[in-house]
Amino acid sequence: SNQSRIANNSRSVEAFARAKKVIPGGVNSPVRAFKSVDLNPVYMERGEGSRVYDIDGNSYIDYVGSWGPLIMGHAHPEVIEAIKRTAEKGTSFGAPTELETLMAELVVERVPSVDIVRMVNSGTEATMSALRLARGYTKRSKILKFEGSYHGHADSLLIKAGSGVATLGLPDSPGVPEHVASHTITVPYNDLESVKLAFEKFGEEIACIIVEPIAGNMGVVPPLPGFLQGLREVTEKYGTVLIFDEVMTGFRVGYNCAQGLYGVTPDLTCFGKVIGGGLPVGAYGGKRELMEQIAPSGPIYQAGTLSGNPLAMAAGYTTLKLLTPEVYEGLERQAVRLQLGFEANARKHGVANTINRVGSMVCPFFTETFVINFETAKTSNIARFKAYFASMLDLGINIAPSQFEGMFVSAVHTDEDIDATIAVHDIAFGRL
Ligand code: PMP
Repeated sequence: SNQSRIANNSRSVEAFARAKKVIPGGVNSPVRAFKSVDLNPVYMERGEGSRVYDIDGNSYIDYVGSWGPLIMGHAHPEVIEAIKRTAEKGTSFGAPTELETLMAELVVERVPSVDIVRMVNSGTEATMSALRLARGYTKRSKILKFEGSYHGHADSLLIKAGSGVATLGLPDSPGVPEHVASHTITVPYNDLESVKLAFEKFGEEIACIIVEPIAGNMGVVPPLPGFLQGLREVTEKYGTVLIFDEVMTGFRVGYNCAQGLYGVTPDLTCFGKVIGGGLPVGAYGGKRELMEQIAPSGPIYQAGTLSGNPLAMAAGYTTLKLLTPEVYEGLERQAVRLQLGFEANARKHGVANTINRVGSMVCPFFTETFVINFETAKTSNIARFKAYFASMLDLGINIAPSQFEGMFVSAVHTDEDIDATIAVHDIAFGRL
């Protein structure tokens, strides 16, 4: 409908005021507060398929998908059924269950670089643990990451981070000790020359490179041809561990993840989001030789009271099983339609807009510049993004409240959803 959703938000306003008294900034993860777009956050009540419904009774076509996990849409009947069936038998045992092995076997089967995989509870835990493993295995301290990449909130990784840190324009985080930060080297994404220079200087001290094989936290930025291959070569030369952070891209961009798309084999891979089907799950896995260093088979410690939790495994396993190669073809088709519609609108209204897309990750940047790294992403007109965001939300399209986040198309977005989204986008661009 065409009623203003932003004006019809009294319950969300009330809910936020109440939350702010007892939760930092009113939210349990910063970007949810809508601070960067100067709006009251929308409190959700339920989701079904491609739609979400807020507590004021407004509905939206959703492209946030819980920031990536809900590739099969909200409350997918098979996922919900699996969670219910599992919950009836108890929610946690702190003892091994067969579901964990089923899940691990599935990941090993789909991701050829993974021989062994450990389940954790978030993407942050996955990257933090992979980092410890790389350092423990190589007996080196330094790590290399890319400006504008986000790998969760572990100390070593909160340096020149993307996502909410970039959205809020925050400096490197207080609370990260200088001696920890000093071990993190950052270079621009897609800049192989800078990587090589860093290795000429510090190569023998660098434990790992951690990279989003498709950057998703400075908006969506695909790797330039040869970039990932170049990282593979330099890490091999220096005995450095190559970690692909596939928390966002894993099982999102293809049946065999981003590494399958680009044909580059990392030593370790981190997972999150889709692998949990909407429940709190992360995982890290890779080469046997490396992963066997993890306790109890090896000396490098990492543990978790709720790791491999039955409900989380049931939701994740069911979601991965639903993700057949045909589903990825459908995702590609719908995302291409969305991109073409958006591009036509931008031309029609003469709005500078560059769309980066890989599979179902779609990101319209408000710039004419070819976006290949954080610097070029930042050429985007943020004021325009804010106005665009407000129009989209008001007219019923839910996207992430940041220029530095992509849209996630799901397998349950219909042709009508995509057409309706392009129609709203047309109105939003007309208002710019
Ligand atoms: N790595 C990447 C690439 C991510 O996109 C994210 C979350 N957006 C994380 C790590 C952290 O995952 P989590 O929020 O589950 O801790």
